Amino acid sequence: MRGLSARLLGRTITRASTNRPDMRWAFPPGLAQRMTGARVESFRRRAKYILMRLSGADSVLIHLGMSGRMLIAPSGLNDIPLHEHLTLETDDGWRVGFVDPRRFGSVDLVATADEDSHRLLKELGPEPLGADFTAKSLSTALAGRNTPIKAALLDQRNVAGLGNIYVCEALFRARISPLRLAGEVAGSRAARLVPAIKATLTEAIAAGGSSLRDYVQPDGELGYFQHAWKVYGREGEPCPDCPGAPVCQGVSRIVQSARSTFYCQRHQR
Ligand SMILES: [Zn+2]
Repeated sequence: MRGLSARLLGRTITRASTNRPDMRWAFPPGLAQRMTGARVESFRRRAKYILMRLSGADSVLIHLGMSGRMLIAPSGLNDIPLHEHLTLETDDGWRVGFVDPRRFGSVDLVATADEDSHRLLKELGPEPLGADFTAKSLSTALAGRNTPIKAALLDQRNVAGLGNIYVCEALFRARISPLRLAGEVAGSRAARLVPAIKATLTEAIAAGGSSLRDYVQPDGELGYFQHAWKVYGREGEPCPDCPGAPVCQGVSRIVQSARSTFYCQRHQR
């Protein structure tokens, strides 16, 4: 969102085109016409969704899915790049392409005044970096829950926008086992977990995100937070919390809800 905002904020979209009928879902009717001629007024992020607010009171709701990325380049291309499904051009000579080989990404339109009642946004829990996401609010949301904390943190109704990598990293920092029942994460555990989540996300955003496979920022730069992962993808490596300590078995990998979990069995309880 920050990458898009830097290039698009205040600009007018002089041309918009969809290059196929759908991505994860069909493009909304009239998408290209509604965008063409509109000015980009502001941006908002909610969970993993980008909202681009246009003059005319439309918001464009964008989700990058698994493999999607927005690429910005000077306009003037004759050919549509491979897997570019939506193309915008601006009044100051830039083109923005939504490129997504696997097409899990999506684009929709919603009235700006009704953003929070969109079907994809209306059940989302609090923003993890928001002031209303606290140890108290999290433990209230998790009270009595018998699912593992790993699954509960991936459930967007409890907290919005956390993905698999960041949940693993935050649980490691908080020294909480991914297997612990969510209902037991209260008191001092919740008091460790909430700041661990906030710190993990803040550092990842500052690093431009994590480049997994082919993710890049809109200017083509790779995100580099993957180099700061402490446990994710590090099965068998020494635990970063106990360098040289013979008692630690290092980073383990297990599968929970069909997703890989990386953690230290000794340090995370
Ligand atoms: Zn360890």
